[in-house]
Amino acid sequence: MSTVEQTLILAKPDAVQRGLAGEIIKRFERVGMKIAGIKMIHATEEQLGQHYKDDKDWKISVGKKTLAAAKSKGIEMTETEEQIGDRIRKWNMETLKFCPIIAIIFEGHHAVEFGRKLVGNTEPRQSPPGTIRGDYSIESYQIADSRKRVTLNLVHASESKKEAEREIKIWFNENEIYNYDLKIWEIVHR
Ligand code: ADP
Repeated sequence: MSTVEQTLILAKPDAVQRGLAGEIIKRFERVGMKIAGIKMIHATEEQLGQHYKDDKDWKISVGKKTLAAAKSKGIEMTETEEQIGDRIRKWNMETLKFCPIIAIIFEGHHAVEFGRKLVGNTEPRQSPPGTIRGDYSIESYQIADSRKRVTLNLVHASESKKEAEREIKIWFNENEIYNYDLKIWEIVHR
């Protein structure tokens, strides 16, 4: 089975506003991934609704992570996991349309796993230096909650191969995805 796969990366509005798109791209390129598609796009309601799909499991998983982070800081939350997830889905849809974003398909060996590693933890506060979120953000769930918005963490990276395949179809048409050889792979993966 081939280890080469694609992942969807979004430089979110906070990254675009802060001029960090190049920095994000650089980090994926320097581990040896190749750009298979790239575009600037003002997200439509339809794309936002599909990207942050109305999914109970996703909401519960976001809620669980949020409650665990709150507990570790001694913060009490009264909402259920699903209520938290529902609120964060809505906030995400609002945040992503603040300005145009940059969507990139990166391709490479284990691209999804490496993409998540390069990006870091969802909450920048928990994301170590060396990761994109750890190096360029000083954000926490607590700050986000106090301002009634999502945690500004600069970048989206697909969570699984299946999710990557689903997400790529939301942001790219087939004729916007390029198939070409990256000669450096012959050296790196001899
Ligand atoms: P990731 O982007 O790391 O895959 P999730 O899919 O769990 O993380 O969440 C999607 C986005 O929602 C995150 O990138 C972040 O911007 C926002 N988010 C998640 N949890 C919270 C939270 N507790 N408070 C504010 N924003 C959150």
